[in-house]
Amino acid sequence: MSLFPTYNRFPLTIVSGKGTTVTDDQGKDYLDFVSGIAVCNLGHRPPEVQEALEEQLNQVWHVSNLYQIPVQEEAANLLCDASELDYAFFCNSGAEANEAAIKLARKHTGREKIITFKQSFHGRTFATMSATGQEKIHEGFGSLLPTFEYFPYNDVQKIEEVHDGHVAAIMVEVIQGEGGVVPGTKEFLKTVEDKCRELGALLIIDEVQTGIGRTGKAFAYQHHGLDPDIVTAAKGLGSGFPVGAMLGKAELKDSFTAGSHGSTFGGNPLASTAVKATLEKIFVSDFLEAVTEKGTVFKDKLEDSLARFNSVKEIRGKGLMLGISISGEAIQIVHSLREKGLLAVVAGPNVLRLLPPLTVEYGEMDQAVALITEAIQQHEDSLQKA
Ligand SMILES: *Cc1c(COP(=O)(O)O)cnc(C)c1O
Repeated sequence: MSLFPTYNRFPLTIVSGKGTTVTDDQGKDYLDFVSGIAVCNLGHRPPEVQEALEEQLNQVWHVSNLYQIPVQEEAANLLCDASELDYAFFCNSGAEANEAAIKLARKHTGREKIITFKQSFHGRTFATMSATGQEKIHEGFGSLLPTFEYFPYNDVQKIEEVHDGHVAAIMVEVIQGEGGVVPGTKEFLKTVEDKCRELGALLIIDEVQTGIGRTGKAFAYQHHGLDPDIVTAAKGLGSGFPVGAMLGKAELKDSFTAGSHGSTFGGNPLASTAVKATLEKIFVSDFLEAVTEKGTVFKDKLEDSLARFNSVKEIRGKGLMLGISISGEAIQIVHSLREKGLLAVVAGPNVLRLLPPLTVEYGEMDQAVALITEAIQQHEDSLQKA
C-alpha cells in the first residue's frame, strides 16, 4: 500500500451513505454517529447540497481569487449574519482557518504571544500544531513556533493572573473536542474574554468542531453571550466538501489587505456553493432548536440507560456533540459498537464521542442508546473479569 501510515484505520470500507446510514463493501449498514468527525452535519448526501453542487458542476468549478466569485460573497454573508462578525476569509481546512487567525492577530496587534490551553486541538500545520496544547502532537518535530503559552483549561484564576502587554490573542475552544469533549465553563470563558479586553488582545474562538449548528446554536460561543474578535470554522461548513473559514470584526480589515494572505483554492465556486447550500439549511432557528431538543433527549436517554454502570463516569457536551467518559479504554467500545452496526469515535483514551448528523431521527437515537448500553454492559463485564 502506497499511503503514509499517518492514520490508524479501522477495517471498514464505506461505499455509500444516505442520511444517518452508511453501507460498507459487504453490504452491511451502520448508523453513523461520527459524521466524518462532525463534518456531515446534514447527514450523507443531503439533497439540497447535492443539487446545488450538481448545478455548479455544470457551470464552473474553479476560477481562483483573481476574479469575482458571487457565491463566495453569499456564503460570507450567511456566516457573518449568523456570527455577527463582519468579514470572512475562505480557506480549505480547520488548520488553515486557525493559521489565518494567528497571522491576522499578530499582524493587527503587532504582538507575538498567543495564549492557548492544555489539551486543546487547533490543527497540524506548524503554527496550529504549536498552538495545540498536547505534547503527543508536538513529538519529534523539533522546535515549535516559540510564541505560544499553554494555560490550564477552565482555570479562572490562572487567566486572571496574566498581566502581560505582549499578548496578541487568546485562542480557545468553547468545548474542547479532541481533548475529550470538555465544555468550558461560562465563568472561565467570560474571564478569558475580559482578560483579552484588559490586555488589548484579540479573542479567537476555534469553532472548527463546535460550529455550524453542532451544539444547537450556529456557533457554540453564542450559548455564553461571548463577543469574539475572530472565529474559525471548517468541519461542518461544507457538508463534506473541504472548506474552512475565518471570520473577523470590521476593525481587523486593514490588517488583511491585498497581498497579506491568500489561498489558491479557498472559497472556489464549488466550495462556496457547498457552504451556501449547507448554511441555508442549518442557520435557521427551527433547525437549530430541533438540534437542541434532540441533544437534550439523547443525553437524557443515555443518562437513564447508563446510570447503572460503574464504568460510566460522566456524560457531557452540548447539542449533538456528546462525550461519555468511562474507566478503561474507549477504543474497545468503538470496536464493539462497529460490530453491532454503530459508528462512534474516541476523544482521548477514555472518552467515547458521539457526533450524529444534526438531521438524526429520534428512532435512530433510540437504536444508538440501546447499542451503546449493550456495548458498555459487555465492557463492564470484561473489566470485572480482568
Ligand atoms: C479538527 C479540528 C481542527 C483542525 O481541522 P483540520 O480541518 O483537520 O485542519 C482545528 N480545531 C479544532 C477544534 C478541530 O476540532
